[in-house]
Parts: sequence; structure tokens; C-alpha cells
Amino acid sequence: MSKTGSCLCGAITYAVSGPLRHVVYCHCEQCRKTSGNFVAAISARRTSVQISGKPQWYKSSKAARRGFCPTCGGNLFWDGQGENISIMAGTLNSSADLLAIGHIFVADKAGYVQICDELPQAEQNEPMITKW
Ligand SMILES: [Zn+2]
Ligand SMILES: [Zn+2]
Repeated sequence: MSKTGSCLCGAITYAVSGPLRHVVYCHCEQCRKTSGNFVAAISARRTSVQISGKPQWYKSSKAARRGFCPTCGGNLFWDGQGENISIMAGTLNSSADLLAIGHIFVADKAGYVQICDELPQAEQNEPMITKW
């Protein structure tokens, strides 16, 4: 699968040349605070992601940093420094072939969010949902 995406202003673009994991919704506090709601993220092998432009990286926890556009503020990447990097699915240029596969950190979700789908849910992180 080959995919491209960008932030709103186009200063940051990316291309993914390898396989992708389908979309996971994350309701954790950090995702809420950085996106304004929950996020929808795909995941790709780090080695298959080519980033153009200079994202600003914010170290959001001991384990991870988040990449956003310093011009338009677009929320693009979650990088846990492992083999994979998460990409906010809404920044993809096309996503018609992707599916949502589950919800994680539901314990942190905003009070107004009603999950109305049949997808699996986990209170915290859940490798059964986030695995490839
Ligand atoms: Zn931008
Ligand atoms: Zn999260």
C-alpha cells in the first residue's frame, strides 16, 4: 500500500511505502489535549515513512513524542520510538480503503463522547486492538 498525506497548510507532507495497520481510535488524555477530541490513527513501519518538511516534535510522555505542523498546528504523528510510527488518519489524502478496528483508553474519554459502533473497546492500551 502506498499512501500520502499532509497537514492543513501543506508545510508537512509524508508518504508511506509499506503496509499500514487499520485505524484505532484513542481516547487518552494526551490525544484529547493535543487534538481537541479523540484521535483516529493508523500505524506504519518507521522505515516506510518519509516525512518532508520539519514537524515540531513535542515530548508528550517518557515514551513518546508527537509531531505537529508549526505553521498550521496540524496534529500528524505519534512516535513511541519503536518499530512503528502512528499517523493521524485524518491527514491522509485518501483513506477509502481503511477501516476502523477499535477504541483504546476508553477510561479517559470525554464525557460527551458516545461510542455507538460495535468495535472492540479497551479501558487502557490494548495490544489485541493495536497490533497489526
Ligand atoms: Zn501545516
Ligand atoms: Zn491517545
